[in-house]
Amino acid sequence: MIQTVGLKKSFGDTEVIKGIDAQVEKGQVIVVIGPSGGGKSTFLRMLNMLEQPTAGSVFFEGEDITHLPTNKLDTVREKMGMVFQSFNLFPNMNVLANVTLAPQRVKKTGAAAANEQGQQLLEQVGLADKADAFPASLSGGQQQRVAIARALAMDPDVMLFDEPTSALDPEMVGEVLKVMQALAKAGMTMVVVTHEMGFARQVADQVWFMDGGVLAEKGTPEQIFDHPKNERTKSFLAKVL
Ligand code: ADP
Ligand code: MG
Repeated sequence: MIQTVGLKKSFGDTEVIKGIDAQVEKGQVIVVIGPSGGGKSTFLRMLNMLEQPTAGSVFFEGEDITHLPTNKLDTVREKMGMVFQSFNLFPNMNVLANVTLAPQRVKKTGAAAANEQGQQLLEQVGLADKADAFPASLSGGQQQRVAIARALAMDPDVMLFDEPTSALDPEMVGEVLKVMQALAKAGMTMVVVTHEMGFARQVADQVWFMDGGVLAEKGTPEQIFDHPKNERTKSFLAKVL
């Protein structure tokens, strides 16, 4: 579904992504772990061209999306949902309107159909009773679940998550991870940057350890957590586990 070839990114003179060859198969859940500053966010943002690579290519569903004109890139991005650490809900709209805005504006879905789908998605993330609530009245965990529903409303082929639980109070992390786990179980293709090692172990098909702008080690959760080969993986895990 996604393939990167020799992907690189520099900011000024500093190369922060140093040549990544990777692929994500349909239905796979990839969890990206690694130390802060290692390039995880930059890598994830290059998958949907929120960050333009300095070199190399990203293929999405077989198409090289690295140099698409904006209008074509927009069409590609509709198929790639993204959820950030900060939920960025529209504060002046209620929950249902947050979820239904993009399908109506971008996909020209009619209001009735969008509302029905939106209500279903809110049910899926456990917030069926919050359709009329405004974001400010919700907890962080609830807001992040709305953000997930909003991304799902565009019916994406892949979901990209950048530390979706890092800004949450500890007691709210579980409810968001639960929604993500259910999504994975339902077959969604996902790339998840997270420090939640329990989630990585339980849900990931592949764990990628990223450090210093390279994918230093890739493997199944068992390989990475129980038998890491790379010294940097070992020392990172020793600190976080
Ligand atoms: P991670 O998500 O693993 O913490 P990032 O991808 O955010 O890592 O950052 C990788 C490196 O790139 C860091 O050294 C960071 O300071 C740098 N970086 C990220 N974004 C920018 C930017 N817009 N301008 C300059 N440097 C950046
Ligand atoms: Mg980051």
